[in-house]
Amino acid sequence: MLKTAMRYSHDLLTDVLSKGSIAIDATAGNGHDTLFLSQKVKEEGHVFAFDIQKQAIENTQHRLSEANAHNVTLFCQGHETIGDALPNDLVIHGAIFNLGYLPSSDKKIITHANTTITAIKWICDHLEHHGRCVLVLYYGHEGGNEEKEEVLTFCKTLDQDKYQVMTYQFINQRNAPPICLCIEKK
Ligand code: SAH
Repeated sequence: MLKTAMRYSHDLLTDVLSKGSIAIDATAGNGHDTLFLSQKVKEEGHVFAFDIQKQAIENTQHRLSEANAHNVTLFCQGHETIGDALPNDLVIHGAIFNLGYLPSSDKKIITHANTTITAIKWICDHLEHHGRCVLVLYYGHEGGNEEKEEVLTFCKTLDQDKYQVMTYQFINQRNAPPICLCIEKK
């Protein structure tokens, strides 16, 4: 069967992450993606994860501790501050964003286009050749469609000599089928 957008996002990152890689989870949430990245980069690698909600950081920390993962640094701050949080000479192999709100939490706390795009730009500037920045866009909530449109518009303007950008979506699904978007540095 064809893979869900979420499953496909993991496959796209599995291709570019290995022992010793550097990865970013821009929206840690409950930490599922953070743990996935942590397991891909192994002890030799490192994951930097961001979320603005204290509860999300705590949930992620809990998940990581249970799995005995010690290769993650968590930041309880917006991903738009990534340039202040991380060294400018960092080389990133893979990054993931889940746009929208944290499931079973406050639906008013959502990601926004301007801060999302600020973070995408910094990550793209720091991607390794053939590194990937993957976004799963959920946009069925209030404010979601605006963010989706702005992020897609921005990604369409990325220089094709430097990046290739791909989307993956089930276009006959009801409601707002999530989009998996991948930016790959050439
Ligand atoms: N990947 C997560 C789900 C993330 S949901 C999982 O597997 O569980 C989206 C998350 O983005 C929410 O937790 C929300 O708090 C967070 N978020 C919203 N704005 C943000 C910002 N500017 N920077 C970082 N995280 C943000």
